[in-house]
Amino acid sequence: MHQYIDGSRRDGTSGRTQRVIDPSTGEEIATVALASAEDVDLAVAAARRAFGAWSRTTPAERSALLLRTAEVLRERQDELAELESRQCGKPIRLAREFDVPGSIDNVEFFAGAARILEGKATGEYSPTHTSSIRREPLGVVGSIAPWNYPLQMAVWKIFPAIAAGNTVVLKPAEITPLTALVLAEALTTAGVPDGVVNIVVGDGREAGAALARHTDVDMISFTGSTAVGRSVMEAATSNAKRVHLELGGKAPFVVFDDADLEAAVHGAVAGSLINGGQDCTAATRAIVHESIIDRFVAGVAELYESVTLGPTAEDATDMGPLSSFAHRDKVAAMVERARGYATIVTGGRAGEGNLAAGAYYHPTLVVGAGTDSEIYRDEVFGPVLTVTPFRDDDEAIALANDTPYGLAASAWTNDLHRGLRATREIVAGCVWVNDHIPIISEMPHGGVKQSGFGKDMSSYSFEEYTSIKHVMFDLSREPRKDWHRTIFRID
Ligand code: NAD
Repeated sequence: MHQYIDGSRRDGTSGRTQRVIDPSTGEEIATVALASAEDVDLAVAAARRAFGAWSRTTPAERSALLLRTAEVLRERQDELAELESRQCGKPIRLAREFDVPGSIDNVEFFAGAARILEGKATGEYSPTHTSSIRREPLGVVGSIAPWNYPLQMAVWKIFPAIAAGNTVVLKPAEITPLTALVLAEALTTAGVPDGVVNIVVGDGREAGAALARHTDVDMISFTGSTAVGRSVMEAATSNAKRVHLELGGKAPFVVFDDADLEAAVHGAVAGSLINGGQDCTAATRAIVHESIIDRFVAGVAELYESVTLGPTAEDATDMGPLSSFAHRDKVAAMVERARGYATIVTGGRAGEGNLAAGAYYHPTLVVGAGTDSEIYRDEVFGPVLTVTPFRDDDEAIALANDTPYGLAASAWTNDLHRGLRATREIVAGCVWVNDHIPIISEMPHGGVKQSGFGKDMSSYSFEEYTSIKHVMFDLSREPRKDWHRTIFRID
């Protein structure tokens, strides 16, 4: 049973099913009875019922329950890592060392942050009134998540929302729902009341769209592609609900001629191949000074060829398959089309031999793609890096910004002024200098331009999940107040 509504598991009632496949073998792990729009109604009703009492818990009470949840997750960390690895094709090393501990750290961060939520101090901004600011939860939050980091995305969506006193209905991606369900169970085990967090596993067309347009949902928080983000935003107009969108990316990776080339090459390989390149912040467009581009390309190609593709359960595996066969085929088709106008230096092929049964795709390095070409402009969301030369700093910054996206970027230089200029002028939600990928719970994550708006992680995310209320007390005790002159003429 793959729905979690009002504190217990049940089956979806759409009459349609979704097979959850291990993409490293093609084997089925589970079959999900998908949620219908009626199941979404049930989950929203449970979240609405739970909201009153949950929103009145003290920050300290919520914090204690969240800390206990982190403990339960730690007790189940091996199971979580294995499930995450199998349902997405993640190398077990990545799931064990990155996804699961990163998720638990995020839960612990929000357990602490719950206690520093505050409104502004009270004051007299009018001589006859005392004003104060109350920071309040919004109500029921609908969350929609993608398949690339299912556990982390569920945590990023759920914990700032409930730490602030909201209740949640989360729809994970239908092909990777299993760890979000364990997370919901952990919340119940920890003592979080039924209905505070509900999971509906349905497809985007029915359950996702139903959640986005639901008139009893106060906010929709969406992470996924820019195209679907647009339709979620449109659906949210049904009741003018608040919208938070974390969308696609096409991160530039700018290497200046003074950069430490070894660091840049290693950074490009790790930054482009993490999670098989299925990372919205992954390095996708290397923009490299013309004087060092040949050495950069040779270095990346050599390291790409040394990356071990292999079964997800093996510790020696560096990169697993892509998350689904359909997605692998989409990545492969984009690379095939690129052969017509660019050079594939290495990769550009699916896994062979004992990898042929899985959705594997080799790390792929592309040079010579024009800046108006598909492979350069569109999100591939796979292990594919393009390399483009630049002549001077102005051109580097212009190329970095020549994209509809603005999620993440990096600049590689040992020149302080170049580094500072890049952080100031590259338009993105995050700019790293001499690194690419690291994130931490205390710092915000989110984009600009068509990468969306609003922040995940950090206390900045409370701006999304709360509203502020102005409270104004009359101090004068006058039945006839001075400003009434605007209505009652007093001559
Ligand atoms: P997607 O947009 O296809 O799906 C995301 C979610 O939306 C899924 O749960 C899906 O079922 C649901 N959905 C699909 N159609 C819907 C509809 N009409 N109404 C409501 N919900 C609908 O994205 P994906 O392929 O799962 O994930 C990859 C995308 O996510 C990439 O573009 C990637 O950049 C983006 N992403 C962004 C971030 C970020 O933080 N900015 C993080 C991870 C992934």
